[in-house]
Amino acid sequence: MKPPPTCAIMRDMIATNLASKLKEGLPAELAGFMKTAAELAAERGLSLYLVGGVVRDLLLGKPNFDLDLVVEGDAVALARELAGIKAAKITTHPRFKTAKLTWAGLSVDFTTARSESYEHPGALPTVTPGSLESDLFRRDFTINAMAVSLDAGRYGELIDHYGGQTDLAQRLIRVLHERSFTDDATRIWRALRYEQRLDFQLEEATLNWLKRDIVQLNTISGDRLRYELECVFREARPEKVLCRADELGVLQKLHPALRADAWLEDRFRLARKLTLPQPPSFALYLALLAYRLNGDECAELSTSLKLSKPVARVVHDAASLKAKIKALAYPEIKPSYVYRLLCGFSQSAVVAVSIAAASPVARQHLESYLHKLRYVKPALGGSDLIAMGVAPGPRVKELLERLRDARLNGEALSRQDEAALVKEWLTEAT
Ligand code: ATP
Repeated sequence: MKPPPTCAIMRDMIATNLASKLKEGLPAELAGFMKTAAELAAERGLSLYLVGGVVRDLLLGKPNFDLDLVVEGDAVALARELAGIKAAKITTHPRFKTAKLTWAGLSVDFTTARSESYEHPGALPTVTPGSLESDLFRRDFTINAMAVSLDAGRYGELIDHYGGQTDLAQRLIRVLHERSFTDDATRIWRALRYEQRLDFQLEEATLNWLKRDIVQLNTISGDRLRYELECVFREARPEKVLCRADELGVLQKLHPALRADAWLEDRFRLARKLTLPQPPSFALYLALLAYRLNGDECAELSTSLKLSKPVARVVHDAASLKAKIKALAYPEIKPSYVYRLLCGFSQSAVVAVSIAAASPVARQHLESYLHKLRYVKPALGGSDLIAMGVAPGPRVKELLERLRDARLNGEALSRQDEAALVKEWLTEAT
């Protein structure tokens, strides 16, 4: 799809200049880097623009230091020269004509201005070099389709062909054209993320097109859907996005049995409290989201999202552990029993179940396992037992496990207690 002719474009008539926002809103190192990049681009006869999320966030006054630069010309060659000047690490994707520079904990993406077309819904786009205008037209929403010129004569000038500024002011998420979600249904998840993150609303036609195109999510590969879910889980409050996705029937495209409701909201909040200062891992959030699925449904979800083995294991373990909650719901069970019940399960699954289980007693046992029991080890080792006369082989392992049980249950408190127990067991056996 081609961008509409300039006369048909909703141009923002008030020229806005963001030069001072660039200076105030970005670390001095990044603002300085953009000037250097623009000067070099000008020497090479190229135009350079800041685009996408950082422009949106500059206008909103929100911190965002992920710079996306678009070059009308060869972005990779320009990035290479700049990498030399800054002694930055460079990663290039010549096929996509993109490059990434990283230095001193900062990163800047360079893209060659391009237009994109889609052979069929769900296909990856066919990319051809183009102008800034076509590059902005390929973007997802008006609020992400603004650019700031970095060229010397126009430094800081906002380029807003599609009414992004007005939509920011009206707090609206609006696609650029009717086929946007048909071309790329991952934009459905993106729309919900921005809507919930920014507390905006989906503009009326956008919402209708989104609903119409939910079915197009069937055309998206498992890898791409998983990536979208990873992005959702990186949001400060992913449950908001998931609840909205549930309301619209988008969540059910991941698996028909998934639900996002008040229960999930509480569990996600608890997960965040528990993992502070880190946010919960992808596996933990996913195990909570999938907690109410049965084993078969978990397996289907793992396959359709092409989960890595460790993540699939957490989801699967959490589902299997659910069946053990009854056994954990008795206050008087021994710590060694709790240990043996849980020791084969992945840690994130135990955490997920400790957050999700309804029984407070079971939750207490799970927490005690996580914080204490799983670290308990006997003081004596295999060689100590052999020195005490135990025959090398499976008997050593068996006695070490009995010693750990004794430690767990408070029946042995010291190395001496353990040695006494081993002597007792050896005499019993003869
Ligand atoms: P965030 O704040 O979530 O990082 P961002 O706007 O920087 O948001 P990215 O996913 O890093 O988002 O993408 C950078 C820019 O690329 C977006 O602002 C948008 O203009 C464009 N973009 C990304 N994904 C798509 C897509 N699927 N379709 C169209 N444009 C996209």
